[in-house]
Amino acid sequence: MIAVVDIDGVLADATHREHFVQQRPRDWDGFFGAVGADPVIQRGRDLVSELAVVHEIVLLSGRPERTRSDTEEWLREHRIPYAQLVLRPDRDRRPAATLKGDLIRRVGGPDAIAVVVDDDPAVVSRLAAAGYDTYRFV
Ligand SMILES: [Mg+2]
Repeated sequence: MIAVVDIDGVLADATHREHFVQQRPRDWDGFFGAVGADPVIQRGRDLVSELAVVHEIVLLSGRPERTRSDTEEWLREHRIPYAQLVLRPDRDRRPAATLKGDLIRRVGGPDAIAVVVDDDPAVVSRLAAAGYDTYRFV
């Protein structure tokens, strides 16, 4: 069985780069350019390590594809176990709940996925409504 886990707000603390998107105009390049400096969220990392004992970990993030190499390096640096990393297509601007509701179907249906862990209540309710078992990380 697969466990699907979000990155930002579960494994990575993005607080230090939020100022890039709280200003107008939003600086998305600045925001995503700084992912390598995110502190790890130890509780989230522990949770994934526990899940990884019995599940295949698929990381599902709203980060764009262009952050893939920085994200993979960060995951290695923090020794986060995972089998697959699914990211947002670079030109896809849909809200996270819509995006993840779509991308998760390529990972598997509710029968193949034991749990989905995400900190975004909109994502959690969308995926729960689609029949997935969910856990809201806070
Ligand atoms: Mg998140």
